[in-house]
Amino acid sequence: MSDRPLPDDLGIDTLAIRAAQLRTDEMAHSDPVFLTSSFVYETAAQAAARFSGEEPGNVYSRFTNPTVRAFEQRLAALEGGEQCVAFASGMAAITATFMALLSPGDHIVSSRGVFGTTHVVYDKYLRKFGIDTTLVDLADLEAWRAAIRPQTRFLYLETPSNPLAEVGDIAALAELAHAHGAELIVDNCFCTPALQRPLDLGADFIIHSATKYLDGQGRCLGGAVIGPAARMTEVYSFLRSTGASMSPFNAWVFQSGLETLSLRMQAHSRNALGMAEWLAQQPGIARVHYAGLTSHPHHELAARQQSGFGGVLSFEVEDSDGQRDRQAAWRFIDATRLVSITANLGDVKTTITHPGSTTHARVSDDEKRRSGISENLIRLAVGLEALDDLKADMVRGLQALGHTSRV
Ligand SMILES: *Cc1c(COP(=O)(O)O)cnc(C)c1O
Repeated sequence: MSDRPLPDDLGIDTLAIRAAQLRTDEMAHSDPVFLTSSFVYETAAQAAARFSGEEPGNVYSRFTNPTVRAFEQRLAALEGGEQCVAFASGMAAITATFMALLSPGDHIVSSRGVFGTTHVVYDKYLRKFGIDTTLVDLADLEAWRAAIRPQTRFLYLETPSNPLAEVGDIAALAELAHAHGAELIVDNCFCTPALQRPLDLGADFIIHSATKYLDGQGRCLGGAVIGPAARMTEVYSFLRSTGASMSPFNAWVFQSGLETLSLRMQAHSRNALGMAEWLAQQPGIARVHYAGLTSHPHHELAARQQSGFGGVLSFEVEDSDGQRDRQAAWRFIDATRLVSITANLGDVKTTITHPGSTTHARVSDDEKRRSGISENLIRLAVGLEALDDLKADMVRGLQALGHTSRV
């Protein structure tokens, strides 16, 4: 281990590269990966001391692993949080936070537009254990206030929302939560700490699906929770007993992913803004949803609380006969040649998705109408290809709908 401690007060771009580097006696410059399930001891007495916790150190990779620990420390540094616990996936992180910190009778207020599987956790599993959830519109502060009960423990949101890029006011919601003895959890998957630091705005916990931008190249599944050390002890204890631990190999991939996070997020934001502005000018595009556009209703709030607008946008298509339906959206998608037709996001490769029939297929028609997921809506998670090549692919989609359009 190195005895050259890092200087204090480093910038986020430096922390992403230098925080929690793993140095072994071999002094490799690149971080090593500890692919091992268990650890060995010099003596039986040392084994006993490690197991009892009397002597700090690794025992078993379900509990701790040096590579996973390094990733946790680096991500905590980027978010400005006290402690981070890594998980096998984003959903494992979300579920563990609720299961470790809530009890039967407790209540959650959540924004309506959270990740689809988070809804399944609310409806199918938390409910089974007597934990109730009320859904509200992300941007409607009065609705959040009205939904709070004496039993409310958490306010939970994702901002910007998927796929409509609505923005929630983190500072206002943190204040509201604390005034009622509750805590605020922010799923920071879409912005990452490179563009948004919810703890600085008063949030108590951050959730990540590392699968998305933290990896950045669509290779590994992972998740993380960041929060105050006193509360994270319970989350860690849940993980260690229930076992959704992050693989050391995945932690190693994420650790190097973090090194380029800030550059990638700036490039995703630049490409997405260029695409949103261009799409807004095209015939056949009825509406573009991206908080980077000054026409977006939450543009000012996004500009205040984020340092970039991120890579995800969505738009509504219309064919030359004025049809705004699923047929039109599917024809547009099927005419593309470059972008990937998939539901994943947070990748250097641009992905195109029809939310109504994939990510939001399980949502009832009524709920879709209420949350603005129309049948002609297409989501684009803009990657890092040349913007003109991406625009040319969108032109193929527009031409399939009978429009003339050019880059
Ligand atoms: C993907 C995603 C999750 C779930 O993460 P997994 O790693 O797929 O389990 C949670 N929240 C958001 C916003 C996501 O995009």
